[in-house]
Amino acid sequence: MLEIRNLHARIEDREILKGVNLIIPPGEVHAVMGRNGSGKSTLSYVLAGKEDYEITDGEVLLDGENLLDMEPHERAAAGLFLAFQYPIEIPGVATMTFLKAAINSQRKARGEGELSTPDFMRAVKTAGTELNIDTDMLKRPLNVGFSGGEKKRAEVLQMALLQPKMCILDETDSGLDIDALQVVSKGVNALRNGNRSMLVITHYQRLLNHIVPDVVHVFSDGRIVESGDKDLALQLEAKGYADFDGAAA
Ligand code: ADP
Ligand code: MG
Ligand code: MG
Repeated sequence: MLEIRNLHARIEDREILKGVNLIIPPGEVHAVMGRNGSGKSTLSYVLAGKEDYEITDGEVLLDGENLLDMEPHERAAAGLFLAFQYPIEIPGVATMTFLKAAINSQRKARGEGELSTPDFMRAVKTAGTELNIDTDMLKRPLNVGFSGGEKKRAEVLQMALLQPKMCILDETDSGLDIDALQVVSKGVNALRNGNRSMLVITHYQRLLNHIVPDVVHVFSDGRIVESGDKDLALQLEAKGYADFDGAAA
């Protein structure tokens, strides 16, 4: 599904990604763990196509297509979704309106017709109930004044409605209390299936008790330096990242 080969990226003359290699087959959930500042968010931004980054080497394939050649909206239409570490506030646009626009722009890019309002409302209600999101929250401008938990639930709601084939979750656990973490994890787990792949970026092991990954990767200084099964996350939690510093992939 996702193939990252020798990816190098820089921002303002500073190299942040230093040769990332990662393959996520269809249906698998891979976790990337690493200390603050190691470049995890940079990786997610580069995959989503955020400007500001210069790709200096490497390639990324999504379902065999060259991702780095696509505009951000083309990547979304191709089935890539990024749940942000810091969700963006959109003042003046009701969450409901934003969601409908996002779905319809994706459908348009795929040559499908607009979703009818009743169908949209039904889809939002179903997905929202699962995530404890009530309609009042959806009338408010997206993320404006939302609590940490509400922002993360809104990200997972977008994901549930867009049904992406490749989901990237950047520190979706940060700022969540244990109840919110359970709700968000349940929403994410409900989206797991044999075709959809996920890249779950986290700083803490606890998220991976709820979203159990197929593979865990350790990220250090702009690269993946170690990969293993879910026990690698426990090992990291116990020993810290120091053991992996300077390790070669
Ligand atoms: P992580 O998500 O692992 O905490 P980030 O990808 O956010 O790490 O950041 C990686 C490194 O890139 C950090 O050292 C950070 O200071 C640096 N960085 C991020 N954004 C910018 C920027 N706009 N300009 C310069 N350096 C940046
Ligand atoms: Mg960080
Ligand atoms: Mg980050």
